[in-house]
Amino acid sequence: MTDYPNLFRPLDLGHVTLPNRVLMGSMHTGLEELGDFERVSAFYATRARGGVSLIVTGGMAPNREGGVLPGAAGLFTDKDIANHSLTTKRVHDEGGRIAMQILHAGRYAYSPECVAPSAIKSPISPFAPAELDDEGIEKQIADIAVAAERAKIAGYDGVEIMGSEGYFLNQFLVTHTNRRTDQWGGSYENRMRLPVEVVRRVRAAVGPDFVIIYRLSMIDLIPNGSTWDEVITLAKAIETAGATLLNTGIGWHEARIPTIATSVPRRAFSWVTKKLMGEVSIPIITSNRINTPQVAENVLAEGCADMVSMARPFLADPDFVAKARVGASKTIAPCIACNQACLDHTFEMKVATCLVNPQAAHETDLVYAATHAPKSVAVVGAGPAGLATAIVAASRGHHVTLFDRALKIGGQLNMAKQIPGKEEFHGLVEWYETMVAQTGVTMSLGTNVTPDMLSPFDEVVLATGVLPRDPKIPTQGAPHVVSYIDILTGRETAGARVAIVGAGGIGFDVAEYLSHDGESPTENLALWKSEWGVSDPEEHRSGLSPDGPKPTPSPREISLLQRKAERPGKRLGKTTGWIHRANLAMKGVKMLGGVEYTKIDGDGLHIATKDGERTIPCDTVVLCAGQVPDRGLAAQLSEAGQQFHIIGGADVASELDAKRAINQGSRLAAEI
Ligand code: FAD
Ligand code: NAP
Ligand code: SF4
Repeated sequence: MTDYPNLFRPLDLGHVTLPNRVLMGSMHTGLEELGDFERVSAFYATRARGGVSLIVTGGMAPNREGGVLPGAAGLFTDKDIANHSLTTKRVHDEGGRIAMQILHAGRYAYSPECVAPSAIKSPISPFAPAELDDEGIEKQIADIAVAAERAKIAGYDGVEIMGSEGYFLNQFLVTHTNRRTDQWGGSYENRMRLPVEVVRRVRAAVGPDFVIIYRLSMIDLIPNGSTWDEVITLAKAIETAGATLLNTGIGWHEARIPTIATSVPRRAFSWVTKKLMGEVSIPIITSNRINTPQVAENVLAEGCADMVSMARPFLADPDFVAKARVGASKTIAPCIACNQACLDHTFEMKVATCLVNPQAAHETDLVYAATHAPKSVAVVGAGPAGLATAIVAASRGHHVTLFDRALKIGGQLNMAKQIPGKEEFHGLVEWYETMVAQTGVTMSLGTNVTPDMLSPFDEVVLATGVLPRDPKIPTQGAPHVVSYIDILTGRETAGARVAIVGAGGIGFDVAEYLSHDGESPTENLALWKSEWGVSDPEEHRSGLSPDGPKPTPSPREISLLQRKAERPGKRLGKTTGWIHRANLAMKGVKMLGGVEYTKIDGDGLHIATKDGERTIPCDTVVLCAGQVPDRGLAAQLSEAGQQFHIIGGADVASELDAKRAINQGSRLAAEI
């Protein structure tokens, strides 16, 4: 008897029956562009082995002009077909099924060759597209149909036609991007002609026994997007044209409303898919911020969809489905929706992986092999670096003791989880609690480790973390000067007027923490929708509230400062920094770069800028001026001539984050 009866109900698609209701959504890993198809196939085969019923690949370009970038992967030649066949064979050998996503980027292509319905540049690309003529449009349709045909030859079980997120097909649907007056523009019937024709031609090319998923934008979240009536009309026409499944797209890439970041409530958009249930007879797949089996089960049980798509959760744990099936959900490594190692990597042109699971997309080069020579290993520090080391080393068969002077594990993650919008960090710490127990790590909490305690061990790993940097600003009396640790651990409280020194990740988080009052919007969908101005697309075109965002006012006046003469927050995550900046701006937080701190006194924080000197009146100054390694124990061990490994913040504090800490710890533990 499963805990998730709806999740594990087979889905009959006619020519094939899927064993469960979980689809692995499309993710661009960047592996295909490396040309290392052994690695590509290992990535997908690992996920197929984990029991997901249908995998969708990262987007493959149907032609050069449709690629997201020059050199984007596709299925252009016979050699490409052979490379893709390696993946489909290995997925099938594992008992899985895989569909290839066909992604034509249209005006989102980062290339001067890009094409679109109309010559309107997107706000997120430097290139204006060329408007296609009739012949050009016919070429795009034919190229997509040929790509589907090649996918079938390569052994795929189906294709997903990417029709959402503001890509090429989506661009035809709305007047925001389609100003044509011919048969491909004007009335809605004309604007939807291209997507519908694409599905019809793909079906004609691949025959009946082949899955066609159409990814349909159900709420565009941009000005002049689709109405709900148009969404229904399109869904029906796509069904008639031959699609097997309808997948959900939420928001265009250029939308100024977050749709998958960690601050978005879980299953924030399943209500949108639910509205479409009953309008078509093919199964509907819902997506976005679904990251546990229970959330997925609830979505299905409430009739919000026939199937659930999760993408990033399969980077965090390829065995998500297998673990859920055997009642081991607590051991599923959680996707915390941080984007730090997946989407941010993609935008930085790096191979995507996962903060929580550095093996993702590194299946062939980061292997946790069982050891033939078990050792006793001491790990000092139960932050993410030490935790990752401990569980990987113990899972390989070593005898691991994990020390921390604190009474609970997690290190700085315990502060991160206090920030409104970062609630997923609770689940990460809980997962580590489960895993240290499951892998048999001996815990020694509340222990301030001294060198003599470490001498009996074969290997010593120091993961002692960081200390806050003291910026040494001359201070005379009030106001209250405190550190982020004081505030986030509740040792100190902030007054009504706060100046924050340092606008890095922690400065931004502290500003977020101090500008919220009451329930976190991430835990309250109605509040979150109101804060970002999301409404029912049946009432307002595209799901944009006519009143716009309605942030809850900050209970404090906050200034967030940095010395660098650049826009504060510029160095935050590529795909999430804009959300933090927008959120704080909505709350009235003043962000200022290019300052020099001169002193703190009873009047407040005195600064000098290029425009002269001024005082920021405040009753609390919070220091978030970066961190330095905590090497106290390392120095003592060196003095005693004892060998040790040093990782995480204790190794290098600058630009440290949990991604690097976990990666470094896991890689060390793979080699001990
Ligand atoms: P730590 O987490 O600092 O852990 C070190 C541990 O060692 C501590 O538990 C400490 O008690 C213990 N210790 C030290 N000395 C001894 C001793 N002598 N004996 C016993 N125990 C000892 N990173 C991200 O990637 N994404 C985020 O969104 C993010 N948000 C953050 C938000 C906040 C508010 C903060 C403060 C940090 C955030 N970080 C984030 C940063 C991330 O938490 C750190 O980079 C990471 O925790 C560093 O890991 P670590 O294991 O090296 O050190
Ligand atoms: P940080 O990002 O390096 O920021 C430190 C801030 O302090 C900067 O604004 C810096 O700006 C300022 N600063 C540095 N030296 C100073 C000095 N001597 N006097 C005054 N100001 C000084 O570090 P952090 O904010 O402490 O965060 C620690 C790590 O945690 C970061 O590397 C970050 O990646 C990670 N983190 C990540 C997230 C996330 O969401 N991904 C969130 C929180 C933390 P100026 O030098 O310009 O003044
Ligand atoms: Fe999820 Fe973060 Fe891993 Fe991406 S990097 S898969 S968002 S946990």
